[in-house]
Parts: sequence; C-alpha cells; structure tokens
Amino acid sequence: MEDRDPGVRPATTVVCRGRPAPAPGVSLNAPVTFASTFTADGDYVYGRSENPTWEPVEDILGDLEGGAAVLFASGMAAATATVSLLDAGATVVAPTGAYNGVHELLDEAAAAGRLTVRWRDSSDTAATIAALDGAAMLWIESPTNPLLDLADIPVLATAARERGAIVVCDNTFATPLLQRPLHEGADIVVHSVSKYLSGHSDLVLGACVTAPTERGREAHAKLVRHRLLGGAIPGPMEAWLAARGIRTLAVRLERASRNAAVLAALLAGHPGVQRVRYPGFGAMIAVEVRGGGVGADAVCQAARLISRSTSLGGVETQWERRRRYAAEPQTTPENLIRISVGIEDVEDVWADVRQALDAGGGTPG
Ligand SMILES: *Cc1c(COP(=O)(O)O)cnc(C)c1O
Repeated sequence: MEDRDPGVRPATTVVCRGRPAPAPGVSLNAPVTFASTFTADGDYVYGRSENPTWEPVEDILGDLEGGAAVLFASGMAAATATVSLLDAGATVVAPTGAYNGVHELLDEAAAAGRLTVRWRDSSDTAATIAALDGAAMLWIESPTNPLLDLADIPVLATAARERGAIVVCDNTFATPLLQRPLHEGADIVVHSVSKYLSGHSDLVLGACVTAPTERGREAHAKLVRHRLLGGAIPGPMEAWLAARGIRTLAVRLERASRNAAVLAALLAGHPGVQRVRYPGFGAMIAVEVRGGGVGADAVCQAARLISRSTSLGGVETQWERRRRYAAEPQTTPENLIRISVGIEDVEDVWADVRQALDAGGGTPG
C-alpha cells in the first residue's frame, strides 16, 4: 500500500487511503485475495496469520483513529480479544448500559470466576471513578447502545490511567469521524465494523485500534496473537466489502446525521412520543413511545418504508424494540424503539414514522 499524505483530513482518508500505489495499468482498488496459503519465503504465509485484503481497512481505520488497527471476524471477536488481555481474576469497570453482547460476555466471564465486573452508569463520572480502585480495565461505550448515554472520556481515561487501568472505548456509535477516543486518553478502541464503517448491512466484521504508545503497542501485539490463535479472522470478502463501504463513510454519516437531527426534533413534538434520546450528533435516536412494550411493537410493525430489523449504521433506516430480546438489560425501557437513521429523503422517513406512530400504540393515552 502507498505511503499516506499525513496532512489529509478524515473525509479524504476514507477515500484515498488503502489503495495500491498508482502505476500505469494498476487497479485503483486493492483486489480481494482468496487464499489459505501463499508460496513460501514471502511476506504472506498462511491465511489465518495474514491476508493482504485485511490491510486497506486496517490502514484506513488506523489513520482515522490515530493508532494501529487489527481487524477481526466481528465486533464481538474484537471485544473478546480485548477482554483476553486481562489476567485471570482481574477487575473490570464497565457501563451498565453497555451493548448487550458485551454485557453477556463480561457477565459470563464473571459467573465462571474469570473476572470481577463492577457495573456502573458511565454517564455518572464520579461513580465510575470511585469504582476504579484495583481495576485492571475501564470499559467505556459512548454513546451507549441503545440508551445513547454519554461518558466523559477524557476525565474517565485520565482517572483510570492514573490507577494503572487499561482504557477501552467502544466507538461503534460515534465512528472516528465524530469522536477519537485514542486522542482523549483511551488505549484501545473497539469497533463493530458491521455498522457505520461498512454501512450497507451486508457483512459482519470488527476491529480494535491501539494507541501509538508503549501500552498500545503491547496490546496490539497481544491482539494480533489472539487473532492468530483464537482464529476469529476476517473473511477476505468481508474485508474487501468493508473497504468499499468505508469509502463513503463521510458522506453517509453527514447525510444520516442531518436526517437524524430533523427526525429527533419532529419526534419530540409528536404526542405519541414520551421521550426522545438523541445526543445531538450522529445518526442514532432512541424513542420511548406511549402504550408500553405492546405499543412500541405495534409502532414498529406499522412501518412501510423503515426496515424492521436489528443492527444499525446502514444506508437504510432501521428500527426495533430492544426489549424484544431476552438478553437486553433491564435498564432498557420496554417501550424504547432504537432508530438507526439512514440516508433516504428525510421527508419520506418522517412520513413513515408519523403514520406508524398514528397507526400503532404510540397514540396519546
Ligand atoms: C453491534 C455492536 C457490537 C458487536 O458487533 P458485531 O459486529 O455484531 O459482533 C459491539 N458494540 C456495539 C456498540 C455494537 O453496536
């Protein structure tokens, strides 16, 4: 891959980074390499240890976050690799509102006696800091999925590092275009690349990005090792699709964020809506509707345009009632609908939201 011009801005990085060095007749795009093995004595040996198709995504993501990226088979594989950095019996401080997969991962590790987990509301900075004594890791997710709570990353990171804890931040919701946790003191950023980065609801992939520090480099080597031995490697096709998807990240996010701001304001004025959670940036909204869980289900079902599906960060607007999953933490209200705002014409999305609220349980009562 070519040397990057260090001066470029993120919206240029996503377009220009991770391409073959230009030369007459050379493809603009890196090819997809389907290979379990490579002829001996070169840079590539075996498909579980390396594949050139992983590199464009790692290069782009590393540049965007300001660190070194390690691509994994999924966001949860990246989270699992990160948790594996802890010694047996270590203590983790983690957000009560963490993504349910991370919640279950840590809960099960705790139940098996491998870790101690102190769950704290990470928007409560004082409570989180008070829990840090003796902790080996602080896990941050901001905004959280699905409550959209925000953490004070610089303050928490400083407090954690003063106490010797490694600082991890799940940056899936904000993306590095809106928030760069490594610049705010985090040691490792975790991503579900399945979401905004790839952006088309067509693949599952994850990544860790480590800080350009001694601690970061140490973690990076261990994460690469975990990928090699754990075997949760990205498929070449997924990696290639992610590189293709990330090219449009800046324009997708800009449009989706603009749509989200419009929708959040309109939702707040609808009588069927009790509460709108919207952090003021990004393209995720959570609404609590009238009529409880039944009402929220009815609203979701009434959609004609909006996709009734889980996941987020795709070009299409999606929504779902989170508590339909048994694994969803009890802290998520029954009547909460998570909306991942897409890049459609916002008038059409609002028309569908409004008719669904009118048709479903979200009517005044
Ligand atoms: C989806 C998600 C994950 C898990 O990622 P997968 O790619 O589905 O494994 C982790 N964290 C957050 C915040 C997510 O939204």
